[in-house]
Amino acid sequence: MVDFKLAEQQVKLRDLARKFVREEIIPVRAELDREPDPHKGFSWDLLRKADEVGLRTLSLKKEDGGIEADIITRCVVGEEIAAGDLGFAVCLDQIWKISGAIVKICNEEQQERFIPMFRDDPECVLSICITEPSGGSNYIPPMERKETIQTRAELKGDKWVLNGLKCFISNAGLSKLYLVFAVTDPDKDFYERFSAFLVTSDSPGFSIGKTEDKMGQRLVWNSTVNFDDCTIPKENLVGRRGGGMPDVLKFLAEEGSNIQAGATVLGTARAAYEAAVERAKERFIGGKIMIHHQLTHHKLASMKMRLDAARAYLYRAAYNIDSPDEENDYSMAPMAKVFAATTAFDVTKEALELFGAYGYMKDYPMEKYLRDAASFLHSDGVNDVLLIRAARLLYDLPAEMFQ
Ligand SMILES: Cc1cc2nc3c(=O)[nH]c(=O)nc-3n(C[C@H](O)[C@H](O)[C@H](O)COP(=O)(O)OP(=O)(O)OC[C@H]3O[C@@H](n4cnc5c(N)ncnc54)[C@H](O)[C@@H]3O)c2cc1C
Repeated sequence: MVDFKLAEQQVKLRDLARKFVREEIIPVRAELDREPDPHKGFSWDLLRKADEVGLRTLSLKKEDGGIEADIITRCVVGEEIAAGDLGFAVCLDQIWKISGAIVKICNEEQQERFIPMFRDDPECVLSICITEPSGGSNYIPPMERKETIQTRAELKGDKWVLNGLKCFISNAGLSKLYLVFAVTDPDKDFYERFSAFLVTSDSPGFSIGKTEDKMGQRLVWNSTVNFDDCTIPKENLVGRRGGGMPDVLKFLAEEGSNIQAGATVLGTARAAYEAAVERAKERFIGGKIMIHHQLTHHKLASMKMRLDAARAYLYRAAYNIDSPDEENDYSMAPMAKVFAATTAFDVTKEALELFGAYGYMKDYPMEKYLRDAASFLHSDGVNDVLLIRAARLLYDLPAEMFQ
């Protein structure tokens, strides 16, 4: 039997997130979005309030104040927060993913150091650093060695020394802890060359460069991270040396990265759709209320149909990860993300069109929704490349990612 009903706890969390959006995010989002300085778009106050109601620590174990939220639960909450603001939802989404990884893949000693650091500080934000200027898609094999991640980590005595540069990193500059991918064994096979590290922002040689002035998602930072002889303890290697690609990246897929990305951008599109429905009920045009035109019926129903289909696909992919008795199918998550991201962008554009010229004006949230929705055509893997990855998995083509 298949059950489509949300669990009682998921409904409670959804309602809590809706209230948070209504009372905390909507009143401030337009003003933060319009800040010309990209640093001023992020609100620590919003983060602290999210922490107070338990939204920051969803992935932690119950004894650490979390709820060990599974992927479907994170989708439910992420969609709601993004209906308020996509940038802030991304900030939380990154935190859920990386704290989930710390709980599950870090060893006992690392958990003892990093879980209290994260748990006890309401302003502790987390980031993951993979992308480099040479191309974010280039960690997907097969690639020439010179094209892939260039950041190097060398073991010198009892320290790892990192050198390199990461770009477009969500939360970078706000975060206190970074999960960083670097080359440890350049002469080895692709799958054995990379390792993952936890780097604190107070590490010597760590610095933040440019914070991007973005088209959308202006309530979160995306910055460059510099490692200039950045020195961290030997014990900050996550997993085994050379296990960055096969183990840690696979694990992050199991943390539902693509699925959460899809769920959040869907939240933005749902908000745009709901605004369009309200607009259609009020606007008198062509001799009657807009929603009484057959053309409007068709448009709105088509938008709702695609949003519901995208959500069902995301939940199906999440169920695959959340169900220990089901064999993992890693092709589902990238495809569900691509479907959600393209659907979200299309629906948001159509919702904006229903507002006519008013949708183009900053008095309404529609133009912001569209700027925000565009981000996930590229973020968390460009859609083209995610489909290439899915095809490799589906048809058992060479250079499959998780060998
Ligand atoms: C809002 C936002 C937040 C982000 N947050 C993070 C973060 O927190 N951490 C992080 O590490 N990164 C982050 N990124 C980076 C993101 O993951 C990369 O932008 C993405 O992986 C694509 O890399 P790229 O921009 O270099 O595009 P490219 O890799 O240069 O791709 C551009 C285009 O090239 C084509 N292409 C690429 N590869 C192939 C191929 N093999 N075959 C055929 N065509 C191809 C595709 O059409 C693709 O659309 C973020 C990006 C954005 C926009």
